[in-house]
Amino acid sequence: MKDRADRLAEAWGDLVATARRTVTDGLVVGTSGNVSCRIKDLVLVTPSGVPYDRLGPADTTAVDLEGRQIIGTLRPTSELPMHLAVYRSTTATAVVHTHAPCATAVSTLVPELPPVHYMTAALGGPVRVAPYALYGSDELAAHMLAALRDRTGCLLQNHGTLTYGDSLGQALDRTAQLEWMCRVWLTASSVPGHAPSLLSAEQLDAAADRLRDYGRQG
Ligand code: 13P
Ligand code: ZN
Repeated sequence: MKDRADRLAEAWGDLVATARRTVTDGLVVGTSGNVSCRIKDLVLVTPSGVPYDRLGPADTTAVDLEGRQIIGTLRPTSELPMHLAVYRSTTATAVVHTHAPCATAVSTLVPELPPVHYMTAALGGPVRVAPYALYGSDELAAHMLAALRDRTGCLLQNHGTLTYGDSLGQALDRTAQLEWMCRVWLTASSVPGHAPSLLSAEQLDAAADRLRDYGRQG
């Protein structure tokens, strides 16, 4: 049986690996973005403004669901209000926030990502854009929560993305899928004289039904 210290060390290792992936996958530059995961009443978070390749086991940073620091001395991410709002209102155990370039571009153009692809259904339906508010603010967290209703991801106007999931891998994958869909829409909608065809609510419902079994073997 793993004890609590082992589980924490493993989760911190996964969190740091995920944060590094956001950089190597081109979803953020430098120390932008942040990642968290929940273990019961503890939320492990990336520290604010620290390069992810410098983070080691001694930098473990965790808060409780009220945002009180429980582990570590580095300052937790400035986006704590967004991360905690997700954990208080959903069953999520992981949250990823990025400044992915195509998603950020789309967030400046439309109030909702037009459903150009059936993977829209994997995020719960057409992805909304939360209206702009100052980074790190409670106002931004409130806008994000409204945009997330019945969705596992949203865009943040003139800022970036936020997705959540049952694991860090799932939350990161949802960000990658969202960024990819934004790239598809930007590409298709930038062809002069043409407008991309969009999927209907019925087509998205059918895709959602089929996706329930996707990846299940046997
Ligand atoms: P932190 O370095 O405080 O996590 O902030 C990065 C960011 O993306 C703020 O929106
Ligand atoms: Zn940000």
